[in-house]
Amino acid sequence: MSSRQDNITYESLLEGNKTWVAETLKLDPNFFDELSAGQQPPVLWIGCSDSRVPANQITNTMPGDIFVHRNIANVVTHTDMNLLSVLDYSVNVLKVKHIIVCGHYGCGGVNAALGNKQVGLIDNWLRNIKDVFYAHEAEVMAIEDPTERSNRMVELNAIHGAKNVMSTSIVQNAWTSGQELAVHAWAYSLKTGLITDLKVSASSAENVSPVFKMEA
Ligand code: ZN
Repeated sequence: MSSRQDNITYESLLEGNKTWVAETLKLDPNFFDELSAGQQPPVLWIGCSDSRVPANQITNTMPGDIFVHRNIANVVTHTDMNLLSVLDYSVNVLKVKHIIVCGHYGCGGVNAALGNKQVGLIDNWLRNIKDVFYAHEAEVMAIEDPTERSNRMVELNAIHGAKNVMSTSIVQNAWTSGQELAVHAWAYSLKTGLITDLKVSASSAENVSPVFKMEA
């Protein structure tokens, strides 16, 4: 850990908040008046809880711009009431236009899922990633370099997450009703700060597997 984090205390967070408010008001005296009137973010972000992948900073956006759901290793699973509630609210109430599932290379959750060590309760959560691995075992095991193998799993996990988003009744019903909504998968590099678009974007149910398709 760097010394910068050593200097973070309970008190320094509150001081930091005051500094941020003062600086924000200097740039835009109406910033909080406008934001407090309501939110209309055009984007839902589903990302990893990792402290190094904050949605707003890495996309150069501001409070009010992105509705955010984060969990360990950006897992999208159809039985997660927390995620489904966020998805339902953002699609049906906020009417976001884009949903982005963003993984990141070097993800500790993905690496743990690739191993066999027991960590604890989280093993059951990471099982979702093992299922992704199992579905792509031949492709992933053909990659010899462990870092490259992990990187590919990060991509497959984000792609799988985006496809799971597309398969929900929430997104399919939005598409059926003609709502403008696109789902994407990205991977973020901790080393360069750059995002790679994994090119699986969809704005209709066209490519949803038949078994997941829902009649209106
Ligand atoms: Zn992660």
